[in-house]
Amino acid sequence: MEEIVFERLSSPHRPYVGELRRLLEKMEAPFRRGDRVGIKLHWGERENRSFLPPDYAREISLWVKAAGAFPFLFDTTVLYSGGRRKAEDSLQTAAEHGYTEGFLGCPVVIADGMDGRSVVDLQTDYSHFSSVQVADIFDRADGYVIFSHFKGHMEAGFGGAIKNLSMGFASRAQKQRMHADIRPLLKPGKCIKCGVCVDVCPTGAAQFGEDGLPTYDHDVCIGCAQCIGLCPNMALKIEWETDATVFQEKLVETAAAVWRKIEGRTVLINALLNITTECDCWPGDNPTIHPDQGFVGAYHPIRIDEESMRIVGEETFDSAHPGIPWKRQFSYAREIGF
Ligand code: SF4
Ligand code: SF4
Repeated sequence: MEEIVFERLSSPHRPYVGELRRLLEKMEAPFRRGDRVGIKLHWGERENRSFLPPDYAREISLWVKAAGAFPFLFDTTVLYSGGRRKAEDSLQTAAEHGYTEGFLGCPVVIADGMDGRSVVDLQTDYSHFSSVQVADIFDRADGYVIFSHFKGHMEAGFGGAIKNLSMGFASRAQKQRMHADIRPLLKPGKCIKCGVCVDVCPTGAAQFGEDGLPTYDHDVCIGCAQCIGLCPNMALKIEWETDATVFQEKLVETAAAVWRKIEGRTVLINALLNITTECDCWPGDNPTIHPDQGFVGAYHPIRIDEESMRIVGEETFDSAHPGIPWKRQFSYAREIGF
């Protein structure tokens, strides 16, 4: 078995399903007959135009079925408003982008549940996180295919397998923890006084005030971001600012915690196609910064992202996102034994 496989494009015609099929033929499926296999991918934000078409997911689904296993596709809900914050909206966006059970031949699910609360805390011993909160998917699949679109990203510099395992598996609260140091700030005009933030707060920092609006005691708050992630009306300010290096490290810690759960039963595939400045969360104009290359397959997320970076070239991402310390993802991964 080759540790890493690169299938270069051999035809100019999209979608490049033949190339993906040839790559899959060279990969060893760590699944047994009857296994449930989750295919993790990003089906694109509403109005994004650079997402990968569903033809590739269908090809992966067929490959999983050929091994006698039962595939399903999954993604998680996101923090910001748009077409993927609520589970039902995200499924609608998936369908609009062609990711339907009818086309794919397998179900499409939201891994953190229809209310965003199907999550689990994984204990870690890292510098930034003593635990990370991700979708509670681990008992629902026996194996995984991590299918990632390799392209640019404004905060991470690039996004590939590490980011797909990290932001892609994270609960909304964990997404907020990675993006910023947390301090809930109320937008009173948006608050519908539903009490969700008070209910979910694990420390009692969130309480109702006399005016019926919630207050947050920052001395008691542990910055878990549950309130921000689960507020149904986006009445709590989302903080996007964080130190750029710390952000890379937090991404890696979350990915490493997920990897501990799925290592040995997972195949990773990166699509080096539609290599755009920004990720598939980006609505509207998103320039292409490098020609299509092909598909990379591997069995470790660091290995596959390093190889993808080698093929595309560091300068592509350094030019698109000058000053972003994306190399820290690789060096930090080694430091923590990922
Ligand atoms: S961030 Fe967590 S601890 Fe702080 S107020 Fe919100 S739910 Fe409570
Ligand atoms: S969850 Fe949001 S809308 Fe509901 S009370 Fe808290 S801040 Fe207000």
